[in-house]
Amino acid sequence: MNKHRIATDCLHAGYRPENGQPRNIPIIQSTTFRYESSAEMGKLFDLEASGYFYTRLQNPTNDHVAAKLCALEGGTAAMLTSSGQAANFYAIFNIASCGDHVVASSAIYGGTYNLFAVTMKRMGIEFTFVEPDCSDAELEAAFRPNTKAVFGETIANPALSVLDIERFANAAHAHGVPLIVDNTFPTPVNCRPFEWGADIVTHSTTKYLDGHANAVGGAIVDSGKFDWTKYPDKFPGLCTPDESYHGVTYTERFGLEGAFITKATAQLMRDFGSIPAPMNAYLLNVGMETLPLRMAKHCENGLAVAKYLKDHPKVAWVRYPGLEGDKEYKLARKYMPNGTCGVVSFGVKGGRAAAETFMAGLKLASIATHVADAKTCVLHPASATHRQMNDAELAAAGISPDLVRFSVGIEDVNDIIADIEGALANV
Ligand code: PLP
Repeated sequence: MNKHRIATDCLHAGYRPENGQPRNIPIIQSTTFRYESSAEMGKLFDLEASGYFYTRLQNPTNDHVAAKLCALEGGTAAMLTSSGQAANFYAIFNIASCGDHVVASSAIYGGTYNLFAVTMKRMGIEFTFVEPDCSDAELEAAFRPNTKAVFGETIANPALSVLDIERFANAAHAHGVPLIVDNTFPTPVNCRPFEWGADIVTHSTTKYLDGHANAVGGAIVDSGKFDWTKYPDKFPGLCTPDESYHGVTYTERFGLEGAFITKATAQLMRDFGSIPAPMNAYLLNVGMETLPLRMAKHCENGLAVAKYLKDHPKVAWVRYPGLEGDKEYKLARKYMPNGTCGVVSFGVKGGRAAAETFMAGLKLASIATHVADAKTCVLHPASATHRQMNDAELAAAGISPDLVRFSVGIEDVNDIIADIEGALANV
């Protein structure tokens, strides 16, 4: 097929029906696949032939949808997972294990922070967190001889700081490790991290990619550019035989373009089993078809809300990287010239209590843990997603106790602003 622009790929990439086949990606709701002989099936188990045998490892519906996201990000291979949490866990655990170390931005989603700082730490993987705007010397000092990856979010949830992808990629590469970027908030419509040097991209597809609060999901996309074979001692899992998979050496058998995702599928999905239901992958695909239209509207509405809040006397501060004057406006313009996303963070004058009063007065916007959805939703992170953090950890993650995360939907923006106006009047 010809190379198409992203709006066309959102509709067509990943699945091309043959004559008489269903126009939509079919939902293959089957756990298993039948074969004529054990010998044929054996080849699949040995990774000598490609094909489906058990949905925990691969399923055609999931693979079509993963192939679409792969095309949108400009990668070489991709896989879907049952959640964004699973995607970030797999992306790191695929190359780091007990005794290893990872450098991560401190401005990340609270669930990811917990996964890294608590659960993966318990598994023996140490994380050093650096602020996304740390000095070069601070970034450099974070690396150790056993560092295996650098991790950050393109636009952090909910701090909304912008990752300087080129800077973090250069630092990672100077130490012979890949940069993994969680690209959930801008989506590939607004930012393609591989074009700036990132090596692996992850997503919580639960957010804009699905966009309709239909299905929790995640994804990992590989750029195929990181040369694991230059550092065989650092990445033995990719460069030496996997005894748990018939002695296959992933980089030899699948090349740089396929090694990372094949290993994550053959080993991690086999053992941890965080697959999405095919029905969920189908729903994700329906969402992705309209992604460019929705992202443009989210950005238009988000900017209008940010401008309104900035001028409001009851609002202490506003963070929206797409707003002129925002401290990361320049970085946002560099990496996301067409817009960032619809999420605006702000503080209500009067702190935590005022924020809670404001939230209670909203009528259109839903108080929800969810974010990045067609319908406007709002959250007070300090009392919800980030409640496991103490004040120092909250501050390091760029979250103040008064922070309201306002996820601007695609409703008529006049109605959204009227809702905010009514709720601020209560404060
Ligand atoms: N990454 C980011 C940036 C997120 O915002 C979230 C959830 O909010 C996750 C990962 C986790 O994704 P999920 O909730 O799909 O497991």
